[in-house]
Amino acid sequence: MRKKIVAGNWKMHKTCAEARQLVTEVLKGLMPAAQRKARVVFCPPFTALETVCSLVAGEPEVFAGAQNCHWANHGAFTGEVAATMIKACGASYVILGHSERRQYFSETNVVLAQKVVRALEAGLAPIFCVGEPLEVREANQHKELVATQIREGLFHLTASQFAQLTIAYEPVWAIGTGKVATEEQAQEMHAFIRSLIAERYGTEIAENTTIMYGGSCKPSNAGGLFAQPDVDGGLIGGASLNAEEFLGIIHAC
Ligand code: PEP
Repeated sequence: MRKKIVAGNWKMHKTCAEARQLVTEVLKGLMPAAQRKARVVFCPPFTALETVCSLVAGEPEVFAGAQNCHWANHGAFTGEVAATMIKACGASYVILGHSERRQYFSETNVVLAQKVVRALEAGLAPIFCVGEPLEVREANQHKELVATQIREGLFHLTASQFAQLTIAYEPVWAIGTGKVATEEQAQEMHAFIRSLIAERYGTEIAENTTIMYGGSCKPSNAGGLFAQPDVDGGLIGGASLNAEEFLGIIHAC
C-alpha cells in the first residue's frame, strides 16, 4: 500500500525561532499517528533544517526535508548544500525540481537527473516535482511536457532506486495563485503519471509510488483532491506556513 504524504514547502520563509514555533504548534495539533492516514513532512529553509529535524526526531510518521540539494557531494560550489549534508542534519526528504527552481534557477531535467541520484545515494527520498505552465495546458501539451520531465529526470534510475522516491504533480498555474486544479484534472494527470511509471518499472512499483498534488491546496479543497484514487496527499506551499491551515489539510487526508 502506498503512503499518503502531506508535505509543507516553506520556500524562503521562517527564521529558526519561527520554525520552532510553527512545528511545535503543528505537532500539538496532530492526531496520534495510529489514527492519521498521512505522513507529515516539513521542508524548511536550510537555516532552520537542523532545528526542525530535532523537533520531529522520534515523532512517529513526521519527518523533515530540504527544498533542494546540489548534484555533487562536495566541492567549490559557493552557496550550495550537498545531499550528504542534508542527511547529516537528520532530514529524510529533499524536494527536487520545484517549478520555482526550474524557472528562477534554470534547473533542467538533465541537472535534476543528477541531483536525484546524489539524493538517493545520500539516503534521502526525493520529492520530484513536475507540472506544466498555463500556456502548455492551454495548448493541450501538458501530458507531453510532464512525460518528458519524468522520463528525462527519473527514468535513468534502477527500479530499486525509483521505488524510494515520491512525485509531486504541481501545475505551475496553480502554485501560489489560488487557482486550484479541479479534482478531475488532478486525477487525470496522476493516473497518467502512474501509467508512465508502470510502462517503465511495472505495475507493482507504479501502484506503490506516492504521487502528491500541489498548487493552492487549502483545508477547503484538500479533501476532494485527496479523495481521488491516484492522489496520495499534497505538497503544500502557502498554507503550510500557518499551523491551523496545515493541520486542516493533514486532517483532510
Ligand atoms: C508549492 O510551492 O509547492 C505549492 C504547492 O505552493 P502553494 O500551495 O502556495 O500553491
